[in-house]
Amino acid sequence: MHPRRTIIFDLYGTLVPGGYRIQRDTLAFQMADVLEVDRMKFADIVRATFDARVRGTMGGLLETISELAQRVGGSPTSRQVALAAEQRLAFSRGLLSDTYSAPYLSQLKSRGYQFGVVTDCSAETPLSWNSSWLRDVIDVVAFSCELGVRKPDPDIYLAATRKLNVQPEECVFIGDGGSNELHGAVELGMAATMLVDPNLLDTYPFDEVRSWDGAIITSLAELVSASNE
Ligand SMILES: [Mg+2]
Repeated sequence: MHPRRTIIFDLYGTLVPGGYRIQRDTLAFQMADVLEVDRMKFADIVRATFDARVRGTMGGLLETISELAQRVGGSPTSRQVALAAEQRLAFSRGLLSDTYSAPYLSQLKSRGYQFGVVTDCSAETPLSWNSSWLRDVIDVVAFSCELGVRKPDPDIYLAATRKLNVQPEECVFIGDGGSNELHGAVELGMAATMLVDPNLLDTYPFDEVRSWDGAIITSLAELVSASNE
């Protein structure tokens, strides 16, 4: 049996909140106001382009915002785009500033664990990452928008395991079940556990909650207890 001293985490809804739907819509409305486009249409196009944005096919943050505004009939100035980008970044930095998982990660780290993050995210996440506490704790990251692949594609997990110099069979994957990520991890030979944290329940869609028949934890504290055994 492999020792499995490597943990691959999902990011949103697992290590930090993903943001409530109403928070994300409010953000879209504020950006729409700055960009001088219709609020509802802008919120809709943001949602409708999720897959393209997390695959990185709409370019960087400024390009993406400009394109989204144009798709709903806007023609924002570069200053308006920059202001909207700052709103988006502030939201993202806010999510990444939540440190509720930090004590668990630090206990696991002191027991010799190494960590990867594999996340389906759009351009603002890598931009916010470097000013986040996570940067000092997480050993490697695989951002979908930078790699051009998203979960459950094997390549996004393998981008992390290669950088960590481990085989998938040596890893535990922990996630809240977005993007069919748990099945993707299992396919590669990882041990996968679904985190259903009551503190985060309302903040993220759980694609796999109903179909998942593997291990479940309700807090990262359980991961720490298990590491003692
Ligand atoms: Mg998630």
